[in-house]
Amino acid sequence: MITRRHVLALAPLALSIPALSRLARAQDRLPVVASFSILGDLVANIGGERIALSTLVGPNGDAHVYSPSPSDARKVKEARLIVTNGLKFEGWIARLIRSSATNGAVVEAARGVKTIVVDENSPAHDHGDHSHAGETDPHAWQSVVNARVYIANIRAGLIAADPAGNDSYEANASAYLAKLDALEQEIMALLAKIPAERRRIITSHDAFGYFGDAYGLAFIAPQGISTEAQASARDVGRIIQQVRKDRIAAVFLENISDARLARRIAEESGAKIGGTLYSDALSDASGPAATYLDMMRHNARTITEALTPRP
Ligand SMILES: [Zn+2]
Repeated sequence: MITRRHVLALAPLALSIPALSRLARAQDRLPVVASFSILGDLVANIGGERIALSTLVGPNGDAHVYSPSPSDARKVKEARLIVTNGLKFEGWIARLIRSSATNGAVVEAARGVKTIVVDENSPAHDHGDHSHAGETDPHAWQSVVNARVYIANIRAGLIAADPAGNDSYEANASAYLAKLDALEQEIMALLAKIPAERRRIITSHDAFGYFGDAYGLAFIAPQGISTEAQASARDVGRIIQQVRKDRIAAVFLENISDARLARRIAEESGAKIGGTLYSDALSDASGPAATYLDMMRHNARTITEALTPRP
C-alpha cells in the first residue's frame, strides 16, 4: 500500500529524472558562437533547443571597436559553428578565429546580400581627411529583405554542423521567415505615413543605408560607416548647415553611440531629437529592442512618430 507519506518521499526522485535528462541534453547541444547581439537573436531563433549559444558583443555593445577577451577565445575554440556578419563589420573576428585554433565552421550571415558600396559623390560620405568611398556598408541586417538572406545562411550553417537537426532548423526558419514577412508589412505601412519632404534623417554614424534604401528614407551622418573614427569639426559643421538649409526635421540618437554629437547637431541646427534608434546592437531584455523583430519595429515607429506631422 502506498501511503501519502510514501508519495511525498518519492516526489523529489520523480522530479529529478527529467531534470537529469535536461542536463544530459544541454551537454549534447551544438556549441555555437554569434559575433554580436542582433545575430545572436537570429541564430537563437533558428537553433532553438538544439544549440548552446554564446554571443560575443552583447546588448548596446559596439562591434566595430570591440576587444575580444580570453573567454571569447575559449568560446570560439569550443564552437562547432561561428556565425559572423561579414562585410568587415567585425574587424577583430578573423584574428580571434585564427588565434583560437578552432575547428568550428565559420558562416558569414550577410553572404549573398545585395551590398551597398559607399558612393564617392555623396557628400555625407566624404569625411575630410578620410573618405569611405568604395567601402562596403556592413549594416546589411537593417532591411528585412537582407534578414531573409541571414536566416538562409544561418539555417544552412546549422544543418551542415548538425545534420540530425535538419527538420528542426527547417521548421524554425520557416516560422521565423513568416514573422519577417509580417514585420516587413508592418514597417512599410508605418513609414508610408511620412510625407515625401520629411524623409531625411540625421544619425551619428552611417548605419541605416540599407534601411533607407529599402523603405525610402535618406540617412545623413557626420561619422562614416564605422564608429572607429571621430567626426571632424568640419563634418559636423557641414551637417548643421545641411539640417538648416534642407529643414531636416529630426536628429536621432543611437544606442551604441555617444549622444553628445547628435545633441549638439540638434541644438545648433534647431532640429528636434527624434528618439533613439537601435543600429548595431539590441537593447537589453527590458528595453524596447530586445529582439531583431522588436528592434526593426521600434526603429520604424520612432522614425514615423518623429516625422509625421500631428493633425
Ligand atoms: Zn555601425
